Amino acid sequence: MKQSITKMYFPQGYECKHNEKVMAFANMLGRKDPKKNGYKWDDPEYVILEAGVDDDMAEVGIAMGYFTKRTAKEMAEIMGKSEDYCYEQMMKLAWYGTSFVNVIDGVDTFWHAESWIPGIMEMIVNNLEVVKKYPIVTYAMEAYGRVRGPMSSGMFPPGIGLMRVIPIESAIDSNSRRASYEEVSKYLNDNTIFSCSPCSCRTDREIMGEGCGHLKEDMCIQMGHAAEYYIRTGRGREITREEAFEIIQRAEENGLMHQIPNIDGSGKTHAICNCCGCSCLSLRSGTMYKNVDMVRSNYVSKVDKDKCVACGQCVENCPMNAMRLGQKLCSNGPVTEDITTTHTPRNNDWTEKEWNIDYRTNREEVVDTGTAPCKTSCPAHIAVQGYIKLAAQGKYTEALELIKMENPFPAVCGYICNKRCEDACTRGDLDEPIAIDDIKRFIADQDLKKDNRFIPKKRNNYSDKKIAIVGSGPAGLSCAYFLAIDGYDVTVFEKEKVLGGMLTLGIPSFVLEKKIIEAEIDILRELGVIFKTGVEVGKDITLDELRSNGYEAFYLAIGAQKGRKIGIEGEDYEGVISGVEFLSRINQNEKETISGNVVVIGGGNVAIDVARVAVRAGGENVKMFCLENREQMPALDEEIHVAESEDITINNSWGPKRIIGENGKVTGIELMRCISTIDENGRFSPKYDEGDTMIVETDYVLLSVGQSIDWGGVLSGSKVVLNSNNTIQVDDATYQTKQADIFAGGDVVTGPSFAIDAIAAGKQAAISIHRFVHEGQDLLIGRSRRQYLQLDKNAVILDSFDRTPRQRAGNIDGQKAKKTFRDIRTSLSEDQMKKETERCLGCGATVVDEYMCVGCGMCATKCKFDAITLERVYDGEGVEFLGMKKAIIPHVIKRKVKITAKKVLGRKK
Ligand code: SF4
Ligand code: SF4
Ligand code: SF4
Repeated sequence: MKQSITKMYFPQGYECKHNEKVMAFANMLGRKDPKKNGYKWDDPEYVILEAGVDDDMAEVGIAMGYFTKRTAKEMAEIMGKSEDYCYEQMMKLAWYGTSFVNVIDGVDTFWHAESWIPGIMEMIVNNLEVVKKYPIVTYAMEAYGRVRGPMSSGMFPPGIGLMRVIPIESAIDSNSRRASYEEVSKYLNDNTIFSCSPCSCRTDREIMGEGCGHLKEDMCIQMGHAAEYYIRTGRGREITREEAFEIIQRAEENGLMHQIPNIDGSGKTHAICNCCGCSCLSLRSGTMYKNVDMVRSNYVSKVDKDKCVACGQCVENCPMNAMRLGQKLCSNGPVTEDITTTHTPRNNDWTEKEWNIDYRTNREEVVDTGTAPCKTSCPAHIAVQGYIKLAAQGKYTEALELIKMENPFPAVCGYICNKRCEDACTRGDLDEPIAIDDIKRFIADQDLKKDNRFIPKKRNNYSDKKIAIVGSGPAGLSCAYFLAIDGYDVTVFEKEKVLGGMLTLGIPSFVLEKKIIEAEIDILRELGVIFKTGVEVGKDITLDELRSNGYEAFYLAIGAQKGRKIGIEGEDYEGVISGVEFLSRINQNEKETISGNVVVIGGGNVAIDVARVAVRAGGENVKMFCLENREQMPALDEEIHVAESEDITINNSWGPKRIIGENGKVTGIELMRCISTIDENGRFSPKYDEGDTMIVETDYVLLSVGQSIDWGGVLSGSKVVLNSNNTIQVDDATYQTKQADIFAGGDVVTGPSFAIDAIAAGKQAAISIHRFVHEGQDLLIGRSRRQYLQLDKNAVILDSFDRTPRQRAGNIDGQKAKKTFRDIRTSLSEDQMKKETERCLGCGATVVDEYMCVGCGMCATKCKFDAITLERVYDGEGVEFLGMKKAIIPHVIKRKVKITAKKVLGRKK
């Protein structure tokens, strides 16, 4: 049954205790009149108390009175009970979380926290013993803002809400209008005693099984009386001011922004929270109810469109999802330029239809009219426009850092990527696409030089958690890289003696030199990844054995490393070899030779590689035969030209009929004319003219017609499910298989595909594994949906752009190239690379929803292009809790008048 969004959710089987005394205590704390507006049995304020407050505690709690500081001696007089009894009950209340305890004038003094949130509910949930014993308290805390939130929509003027965003200080450093009460450092410098505790909101979500994977431990800082209370009751540990500053920095590095309880008066607070949009129960008033004024700072983010390069870092990190990637180019068609929410609770009645109930799973990254095609079409959504800009400025390390946010192997990709970004590049509609890959290769070449290497900083330390990666191809390595940055204990198991999977064994050195792969793998070594080669999981060690050795999650990325047979006569003759096997053999021993004529069957890039390797290994008259005509050939045009320049003959529209042999050895192949490859439904279904055949004499037939997956024994005993084509079933977004602790990616999921697809998949699996190995985390909540949309290239106005031709690296002489396994291609010179970057049209730019923006400054700290400033547009100052009503009432009246006037005017129309 669908639960009401404004009611508390109860775990199955929970039974309310209906405790009258506790209800009276709840009403007292909430300043409710039981006869008029008292709480109900299913209200979170009552439920959070009934879990752990007994009659004695409630009686004493009521007698303490609202917000009055009391000693046990005073209470003994008030209640006519013993001092010991009163002290015991007051201490229990403090331990449970309704009341503070501090030593004042040498005596333990107690008083109730003023509000439920911030205050009592967080204090209760910050007591991990309470949470363990009474998990219902987390349900109550979660429910509080959801149940009460709608009532406060539009009621609070900016800056006076119960919580308040404090901008990341470096984001407002240069703003001359900033006030000291807007600086985190002021609060830390004003206090002398500090403690830290786990984030109460993320604890809460975790217990409910809805965690988002953000850092939880040590993320709430308490100060002054709150710190004394937290240390005394074991909720937090004492820290120094320096440690508090370090926590703030670590939080910012992990994409967390700051909020303070805003009930102590202007410039005062007792805590600093490090929050994320996905779990924070305070930010939810903005994200879910769009009641942003309740939490906002005085600032709003402004993007300088000219400087912005749509890298997307701000968009991904904005806790409010208040930013979207859009378009910078002029257009004949519609372009979304302003996304600021105009229908708001400020001057409208605010009902369920206006809320964004699914805000944790419906994040959007791009405006509906699209953004830069390069970023959109790259499977890893690398910030192409951004790294082109950084390369133009000679900032190679920064460019590498940006690329490696999504792709740890820029050098490898610089040599082998199938360049979907270039296919999509808007500049291609003007003259020729930007040489994106050449630019990337230039940047990545810098990474191979010691001085410019970019080795990411470890964000966390989860070294107590062991993760096993099976397979060291691009998917496995990518997953290992991102897990290593998070500080996991990662081991990669590889059954071959060399690392890199198909990168090493399936790609010849003259396309991708082994030292480039090694150099990028070295960075993983520096991050602490352990590699075990020559170990076949499923044979030498099983997943169960790894489990009992403490591995908590597995990533299967063994690739499609086996060749495929065609199913024709003669495939077993000596001299008939699968292309991948042939590549693997020669890649492991470039001195191995062949002699005689060679026929290669296949028309893809792998077939081209096979043919080119055959030439270098000593093959004569190397001929390729493929089903497709020249236009339909899957190999890239440039690959085809290179092959021809090395005297490889490409014969289109021929398919193998049978392989001919003598004495068990191949002597020739009969081919038949292929008249079409695709049927009327677009499916691959070749048709032949069997009357048109020819026989080609040959000593080798190298079959490069696809690859298959050899699972070996790795899946034995597991619950994973395979598809009919032997690929593994995974969840589309999380890459989790049917066995919860096994994730999979790369070719074993997609079938044979490109390295960049595998790299993109590896990162997503790392995100899932990180969440999986921590209790209570959901694999989807708060996660980027990676839904990118390309701008309408047909509508873009390109007339005003120059026609600077594309820069090209020097041509290679096929006759020279075919004599060596070394890669003798040249890259763009620095001068050429810079010229090429100038051809980029700069298609994308970010837009901000200035209403939804809470002015946290996260975006500004993530922007490497100085494109974001925080502008001070409000002047709200916090007030003390007891003065809030007075500050709010005029605002409430004004809002009511506005809404009524709107309705009257609406009716008149
Ligand atoms: S012109 Fe530049 S920004 Fe536009 S698609 Fe091409 S590389 Fe990307
Ligand atoms: S300042 Fe505004 S736009 Fe920037 S990250 Fe924070 S909420 Fe998002
Ligand atoms: S504003 Fe900065 S961080 Fe955001 S997309 Fe533009 S360049 Fe990237």
